[in-house]
Amino acid sequence: KTWVQCGTSMKVLNALKKHSYEKPTPIQTQAIPAIMSGRDLIGIAKTGSGKTIAFLLPMFRHILDQRPLEEGEGPIAVIMTPTRELALQITKECKKFSKSLSLRVVCVYGGTGISEQIAELKRGAEIIVCTPGRMIDMLGANSGLYVLVHYALGTYHPELVDLCVFQVMRIVDNIRPDRQTVMFSATFPRAMEALARRILAKPIEVQV
Ligand code: AMP
Repeated sequence: KTWVQCGTSMKVLNALKKHSYEKPTPIQTQAIPAIMSGRDLIGIAKTGSGKTIAFLLPMFRHILDQRPLEEGEGPIAVIMTPTRELALQITKECKKFSKSLSLRVVCVYGGTGISEQIAELKRGAEIIVCTPGRMIDMLGANSGLYVLVHYALGTYHPELVDLCVFQVMRIVDNIRPDRQTVMFSATFPRAMEALARRILAKPIEVQV
């Protein structure tokens, strides 16, 4: 399959070519059209298989289909990850595209000052990449950021268990119930099945 067959727009295609992403990987070939159909999805694929692009591309298309954000609105998409390192890595991948697509991405994670992250969000961003703990602090800070979220993408890792299920639920409960939710992981242990049942609606499962 080619990027075009996956439903990729010209703008995104140009960015993909610029970064030498010549053709989609197997998880991308399967997951991208499924997510673009609007369904929730569970994707199981190893590290390095191209999971990030698999959820970023449909997310970009969804955001670009919306009217532009007014000041103080947003985000449209929330990407939740278990660790700061992964959050930064996903943000980096996202930034390869965000400039040419005129999308703003903010990385919200703990262990560093909260005020700059709040200020960035207030300036407006379509995309938040976050770790759950800091994201909850943000909700507590009453920055009003959850009201307009209508598309959520979650990455999830097995090392996150009970506490994180709880944290993820607290965040997801602040997101529109008609959101689209996508969950990617390298494995799919019990703890994650329970979470998936609570946050996803009739998900398609894709495994490579
Ligand atoms: P990920 O599994 O998302 O961590 O991606 C692993 C690595 O593969 C990252 O460095 C990506 O930039 C790269 N990558 C993702 N998709 C493609 C693709 N279609 N072609 C070439 N490289 C890719």
